[in-house]
Amino acid sequence: MVPPDRREAHWMKWTAADHDDLVRIIEREVDDPRIVDAFRSVRREDFVPEGAEGEAYEDRPVPLPNRQTTSQPSLIARMIDAAAIEPDDRVLEIGTGYGFQTALLASLAREVVSVDRYPELVEAARANLADGGFTNVTVILGDGWDPIPDRGPFDATIVSAAAPEIPDALVDQLVEGGRLVIPLKTGRGELVELFVKTATGMRRERHITPARFVPLVRGVDA
Ligand code: SAH
Repeated sequence: MVPPDRREAHWMKWTAADHDDLVRIIEREVDDPRIVDAFRSVRREDFVPEGAEGEAYEDRPVPLPNRQTTSQPSLIARMIDAAAIEPDDRVLEIGTGYGFQTALLASLAREVVSVDRYPELVEAARANLADGGFTNVTVILGDGWDPIPDRGPFDATIVSAAAPEIPDALVDQLVEGGRLVIPLKTGRGELVELFVKTATGMRRERHITPARFVPLVRGVDA
């Protein structure tokens, strides 16, 4: 019998990845059992484009329309962990994509508002979240650099696109003591950072991880 070659073995391994494999990866990534439960209850294949379901349980980004991607699950887990979401929290997400992280946040928080600048992504995410039965989520077509009328303030904000600086609107919309997790472009690449809002401004709390994100572009796509 011909021994299977190593590339084939690798290929077989990753095409065989399923929901439980992804949950196990998340268990190794974060300690908070609520976050693991959220990943257990949300199936990523429901939040990727049609035809990409076979890639959904890989721990890597999956392409979305408009040259966007849905983020790597282990990175999402670490960012949600850093944001320390409590069950009573109102959470703002900038960059909805197809709504995967939105669904995780909605499983953890009282209410989630999510903003994306592409109409096509907003519509897809709304449909995916409605199919999943999430009723505590509002997806808004808008620009995360701008204030969101009548929705704040938020206990936590997660930004899923890289910015050169913290948008003022996000600071204004946070409660004092509120957490902001954001990838910032720096001379050393993109760094995901945790900030906390204090009476005098944003205090940098800690570095989470280096990462690569799509840019936080200004303006709504027309
Ligand atoms: N949270 C998503 C990540 C999607 S990728 C997930 O779970 O996978 C980042 C998203 O940020 C893209 O959908 C992109 O359209 C959006 N984005 C980029 N700039 C934006 C801006 N200024 N305002 C709102 N959304 C923005």
